[in-house]
Amino acid sequence: MNTTLVKKDLYIGGGHVATNDYVPLYSPYNQMKIAEVAEASRADVDQAVEAAEKARLILRKMPAHKRAAILEKIARILDERSEEAAKIIASEAAKPIKFARGEVARTVQTYKFAAEEAKRIGGETIPLDAAPGGENRIAYTIREPVGIVAAITPFNFPMNLVAHKVGPSIAAGNPVILKPAEQTPLSAYFLAEIAEDAGMPAGGLNVVTGKGETVGDALVKDPRIKAVTFTGSPEVGKLIRRNAELKKVTLELGSNSGVIVDQGVDVDKVVKRAVQGAFAFQGQVCISLQRIYVHENIYEEFIKKFTAETQQLRLGDPHDEDTDISAMISKDDVTRSVDWIEEAIKAGAGLASGYSIHGHILSPTVLVNVDPNTKVSCQEVFAPIVMINKVSSVKEAVAYMNDSKYGLQAGVYTNDIGVGLDAVDELEVGGVLINDIPTFRVDHMPYGGIKESGTGREGLKYAIDELSEMKLVIINKN
Ligand code: NAP
Repeated sequence: MNTTLVKKDLYIGGGHVATNDYVPLYSPYNQMKIAEVAEASRADVDQAVEAAEKARLILRKMPAHKRAAILEKIARILDERSEEAAKIIASEAAKPIKFARGEVARTVQTYKFAAEEAKRIGGETIPLDAAPGGENRIAYTIREPVGIVAAITPFNFPMNLVAHKVGPSIAAGNPVILKPAEQTPLSAYFLAEIAEDAGMPAGGLNVVTGKGETVGDALVKDPRIKAVTFTGSPEVGKLIRRNAELKKVTLELGSNSGVIVDQGVDVDKVVKRAVQGAFAFQGQVCISLQRIYVHENIYEEFIKKFTAETQQLRLGDPHDEDTDISAMISKDDVTRSVDWIEEAIKAGAGLASGYSIHGHILSPTVLVNVDPNTKVSCQEVFAPIVMINKVSSVKEAVAYMNDSKYGLQAGVYTNDIGVGLDAVDELEVGGVLINDIPTFRVDHMPYGGIKESGTGREGLKYAIDELSEMKLVIINKN
């Protein structure tokens, strides 16, 4: 697909639907106009819900092997068109092409896992005779589709985070209405095209682009929608939970993830991983490595090596094969990052590397000895900025890590398994990685956070649980 000045209508009920308003979409890298995109009204959302309602019974009655076949075919077509998909992500999100290709490869995996899980949705038998009065009864559970799902997604993984919602919804037998981030609608329309070719029933997947406060809000409040699965910022997540009333709600929100580096570990090995984790896609990853706590015995060596490795990263056009760091998603995010760096420096932080601006690119910035009360430490930075602070023990570092409103994933490098396991017990997060950075995810693992990082889990099997209802069946033999 040529993304240059394409015009994108809404995708509702298996067809393209024109609307009254279209808005220009600009490249975050060079601010060139790349598309005209439909901006849906509340009436358009209503039409999408009606289309999904028509598909609801079709999907509910569709056998698991057919739902799996559609998902397998989406994976296959996406794999065949992977280069086209990667170029779309690079254009609309300014994700460097090598990372965009990585995202597409993972998206293929996610749909494959969804196809496999579609065939494994089962229940359990329950021994009712464990309770007096329960004798001679057979009890078992089944899982049923929840109903229409609203999927609201962020800009940073426009294919794979969409797959983490569309994949399990279809696997569980639910129609989906997808509302992608305003900056990344083209990936969503590309998926709609692929899903149609893969045999998705009309209305099984609907894409409705437009403003979060209009389209997202209308979806969240519509009583015909039974589940909302959202990935994005805590501010919007909290609003959605309030507005969704009794609907099922999955929230995958922000983080200021950290890693602890104990003495005695292989510094070169850790530094290579940590630089990737801090700066991949300009730090705009939910589990981006933002805070690094290093044992005092290796602190100076760590900073020197980390800075040297960071300075190898190449800034540039997201379509360029050699680019590691490109533009941030918006000019406002560059301005915000500058304000936050200035605040940290004023409060005493040292600048070890970076902090130069080239158009909308912020060079990878390393701050040391950062005051824990400044925003680069205690808020979600979502930018190519990392802080490195000195600690005297892993225990001290755990206390700093937990002094956060977030709790998504955390990493601990240590050669002492006892120290690592104590950290597992004490860290307040959804996932702990021993001898790795927190910036690790494969797509079938349970993934999600606590505190302001969200509620519920994704990873296909776990997301299917969130998007289905349990029903109990009891057969009385008395
Ligand atoms: P965002 O501003 O919260 O937007 C996410 C989505 O919500 C967008 O589609 C947005 O639409 C929509 N939205 C905005 N206002 C809404 C409302 N009132 N009702 C319903 N929907 C509304 O997040 P973002 O800037 O795109 O993404 C960055 C955030 O996502 C970061 O906080 C990051 O940590 C988080 N994230 C978390 C994970 C995870 O798995 N935990 C993964 C990736 C990203 P518009 O585009 O129209 O505003």
